[in-house]
Amino acid sequence: MTEFATRQIRAGSVPAITPNPVVTPIYQTAAYEFASWEAARDIFALRRQGNLYSRTGNPTQTVLEQRVAALDGGVAALATASGQSSVAIALLALAAPGGHIVAGSGLYGGTVDLLTDTFADFGIDATLVDQDDPAAWRTAVRPETRAFLLESIGNPTAAIPDIAAVADTAHDAGVPLVVDNTIATPALLRPKEHGADVVVYSATKYLGGHGSSLGGLIVDLGTFDYGAEPARWPQFTEPYRRVGDVVLWQRFGREGSAFIVYAKTKLAHDLGPALSPFNAHELLTGIETLDLRVRRQSESAAAIARHLDGHPAVSRVHHPAASGSPYGALAARYLPDGVSGVFSFDLVAGAEAVPGFVDALETFTLAANIGDARSLVIHPSTTTHSHLDDGQLALAGFSRATVRLSVGLEDPADLVADLDRALATVRPRPLVTATEA
Ligand code: PLP
Repeated sequence: MTEFATRQIRAGSVPAITPNPVVTPIYQTAAYEFASWEAARDIFALRRQGNLYSRTGNPTQTVLEQRVAALDGGVAALATASGQSSVAIALLALAAPGGHIVAGSGLYGGTVDLLTDTFADFGIDATLVDQDDPAAWRTAVRPETRAFLLESIGNPTAAIPDIAAVADTAHDAGVPLVVDNTIATPALLRPKEHGADVVVYSATKYLGGHGSSLGGLIVDLGTFDYGAEPARWPQFTEPYRRVGDVVLWQRFGREGSAFIVYAKTKLAHDLGPALSPFNAHELLTGIETLDLRVRRQSESAAAIARHLDGHPAVSRVHHPAASGSPYGALAARYLPDGVSGVFSFDLVAGAEAVPGFVDALETFTLAANIGDARSLVIHPSTTTHSHLDDGQLALAGFSRATVRLSVGLEDPADLVADLDRALATVRPRPLVTATEA
């Protein structure tokens, strides 16, 4: 089963149950009956595979994990309740208090908050670097660095990093590269082909694709050798007290994913962000049409970006297909099938024109989400990125006059007409922030 379109529908072993459902059932149960006392003991001790309790696994979730691992060429995956919890657990599996993470500066705002606020409270340090500057990644490395993190397509400016170069620097530093592949999805980019070691997703976005269910995934690509420097990775190479002093690296290694076993049995178990079986089912259904959706959304977004590029009311379009984009060559190298549906543009009339423009749109829905079948619009500097000051906005590559679109599956002609009409009718009106209102 090697072709992507086949895997997105069939990968993952659907449990055999009477009366033989074709679609993966929703296993709406908190716990599972053990066949015997001995089976219960062995499943708890990781000596035998089996369902235990739905905080750490559920058959619907297992199919989702196997399917996404297969799409990414990974050895194992863990699904959690949200993208946010997947990013947190993936990083906590690598960096303990005293540890350090190097990350690209253009990350999703929730990830920036996690790294610079909550992780700081936990005693885990993070350095955010200009992700387009290879030297910045290198000079940020410290002896206690445990992970590099970047997004394969950034938001809201569709920034595309040189993943292979960052992976090389991470490996020179002896640490894995974690790639948030939420916007690209494995249909457009498989981070393993460019040297990444772990992939994380907000499945809420394009994997699910219909804006209905939260979920997240962590995929271990099985590429990083935690046994090469055992002192650096005691969580995998020293006895794991809670399951009979097993050394996870010896028992599971790369192919059995000591990384995911640890993330699941310690972090998902202790912190508890379990994915509901219903959401797992919704995400599986969404994934069945993944490649069709993201290719269509990529084409529509590129066409709309090119249209806006020549529009007199638009001063700049942040899309690799737009004139003057610094990311055209990287997009051609890493994303030949398209750069997905999220991009942004700046209004000539400035920030004051944004409220009228956004409120004049009719087909685009004003919502803080991306990757939906519906087209969405948001004003990042007063919503998703409202905690950034002007300097931080400039570093992130956009301004208060920037509007973000997530292009859906409607006919692009209707979307262009909606944008043109709104651009033609709006007049500047003062921008009042929430703190001033
Ligand atoms: N990573 C990226 C790139 C995102 O865009 C988001 C959400 O917007 C997240 C992670 C967090 O995902 P969730 O909202 O599913 O918790």
